[in-house]
Amino acid sequence: AAPETAPKAPSRAPMPRVRLTHPDRVYWPDAGITKEGLAEYHAQVWPRIAPFVVNRPLALLRCPTGIGGQTFFQKHPWKGMGSEIDAPTDKKDGEPAIAIGNLAGLVRLVQGAALEIHPWGASLDDWERPDMLIMDLDPGQGVDWPRIVTAARDLRERLGEAGLEAFVKTSGGKGLHVVAPLKPHATWPEVKSFTKAMAQAMASDQPGDYVATVSKAKRKGRILIDYLRNQRGATAVAAYSPRARPGAPVSTPVSWDELDEIGPALFTVETLPARLDALTQDPWEDFHAAALPLKTGKTVASAGG
Ligand code: ATP
Ligand code: MN
Ligand code: MN
Repeated sequence: AAPETAPKAPSRAPMPRVRLTHPDRVYWPDAGITKEGLAEYHAQVWPRIAPFVVNRPLALLRCPTGIGGQTFFQKHPWKGMGSEIDAPTDKKDGEPAIAIGNLAGLVRLVQGAALEIHPWGASLDDWERPDMLIMDLDPGQGVDWPRIVTAARDLRERLGEAGLEAFVKTSGGKGLHVVAPLKPHATWPEVKSFTKAMAQAMASDQPGDYVATVSKAKRKGRILIDYLRNQRGATAVAAYSPRARPGAPVSTPVSWDELDEIGPALFTVETLPARLDALTQDPWEDFHAAALPLKTGKTVASAGG
């Protein structure tokens, strides 16, 4: 490797002129991150986060007094949200959604105390056909990191057998998200039934390791393969979004190889920009180019079956 000739990470974006009231308001007290600090983070990671938050219906976790105070999950525009934020209409129910088109929109979301950004897996260009599928791995009590990593690699292999390329990110919480970019051909019901079949196949092949139903009792010592991010209106936290949790962890795209060396909440609002600068290769560089159409009507093969 020749790091000095490696392509530089895309540089930070200039801060747009969006007024922040109370820029010193502390959002993450333990990490000492303020409203202004969060806006600065977004400017630094803008080239990376943009494709995951621009031009999609968004849900927001808003925390007006920071992570220790009252928080609410918001899917619809609010009065005074600002002209930098868009309100496209969901044609299915006639309700307005939240969307942004640029960094000014994202900084305006910061002004609105949106600490977490949760996009749909579909773009505004086609609300009915997802451009990514997300398998959310939720470890039950007593499940250690290596087992979560193994589950993610199992999923990668199954998705590969189905003709899809899989990428992995930390959730910033306890688990991992395995994400496959899609050409937006299959509809939500098709993508949901595909992911449901995959989760159920994993649970029936390895009932001691995996469950596919949300029941808390069954989850102890097992990993829930949560496929329910793949239905119309469902969301998952965006790649590069911070989490409103102690330490300001970030949902971080990682390479398949480095999974063994990291933990679930290793990268934070404070440390991620330096990681991006130091990386010689973006582990998700090919994400958008790797999009493939989901072949529907194909049954998911069981391992060994
Ligand atoms: P972890 O690794 O800790 O599981 P996670 O982000 O995957 O982190 P989950 O609880 O598994 O957390 O995911 C829940 C998903 O449901 C979130 O990603 C989010 O998009 C959505 N969600 C979160 N809070 C709410 C809420 N209050 N109402 C509706 N949907 C929510
Ligand atoms: Mn999860
Ligand atoms: Mn979940």
